[in-house]
Amino acid sequence: QAKKQGGNRYQFFDQNIDRAIKIEQKVENALFHAIEKNELYLVFQPIVDLKTNTIIGTEALIRWDHDYFKQITPLKLIEIAEQSGLIVDIGKWVLREALKQNKKWHDLGYSSMFVSVNISAIQFDQPNFVSMVKSILEETSMSPEFLELEVTETNAMTMVDEKLAKMSKLKEMGIRIAIDDFGTGYSSLAYFTRFPINTLKIDRSFVNEIYHDENAKTIITTIINMAKTINIATTAEGVETFDQVKFLEEQGCDKIQGFLISRPVNPEDIEELFKNKELSKRIEA
Ligand code: C2E
Ligand code: MG
Ligand code: MG
Ligand code: MG
Repeated sequence: QAKKQGGNRYQFFDQNIDRAIKIEQKVENALFHAIEKNELYLVFQPIVDLKTNTIIGTEALIRWDHDYFKQITPLKLIEIAEQSGLIVDIGKWVLREALKQNKKWHDLGYSSMFVSVNISAIQFDQPNFVSMVKSILEETSMSPEFLELEVTETNAMTMVDEKLAKMSKLKEMGIRIAIDDFGTGYSSLAYFTRFPINTLKIDRSFVNEIYHDENAKTIITTIINMAKTINIATTAEGVETFDQVKFLEEQGCDKIQGFLISRPVNPEDIEELFKNKELSKRIEA
């Protein structure tokens, strides 16, 4: 009896895996057509400088407007795009759209805004990655100084000399490099002293815990102080409360990003935020 139940359980498990694989294949297939069908779009989240309490740039984040697959999270979307290799085309599309939008904002008079774009490891590893970025900057008439590329800590950790050389090339071009989700990869900050990076983005999980966990506070303080000694700026992700801002400000964190300022929104709503003079009051309150 027990054996039979066990057998059934495995069969049930297999069916679930089978179903999951079929769904992934459907998603992959739909994603393959997403660009040409105009289903992908970008939302932007403001990044605020804590010294001036003003928005200095935005992070571009992908969204997919699809009848059946709306509920798929951006993280899952990216994962499927990576597994299928679609990330190369999708990533290029994201970069182009983000730069086009930033150019529009510059033309509207917000000419100091930068845009930060997430780059997946597979995309970064493409042999023509640097020349691709260069040609899209030219195509969109955006100066490289207004582009920041976000590479996750886990990706950066596995960087051998060849990848490091690529990063240096990008930096020489004037592009800024940020390490995303910093603190989750268990790498030492000392390791990053030989990296040509500009910004560390402190992972949301630590910011979340500021008023619940003393360890999180210590980790954040340590990251900020060490970053300062090697001249790297820090951005705190996922800031949701004034208390968090207060702590981050006291510790000398440079920039913040999070729902407290704004959720990722469409470009029109970002323009409203650019104009909003009350923003500084919101942060200081
Ligand atoms: P990420 O790059 O770390 O982006 C920040 C994520 O945190 C975004 O989730 C954003 O909506 C969320 N977030 C921002 N502030 C807060 C906050 O105060 N509270 C909370 N709870 N969440 C906040 P999103 O848009 O779902 O993106 C998830 C991840 O998907 C991104 O994390 C990034 O790793 C990846 N991703 C998104 N767009 C792209 C893309 O165009 N290319 C690549 N390669 N990855 C992307
Ligand atoms: Mg990011
Ligand atoms: Mg991040
Ligand atoms: Mg993150």
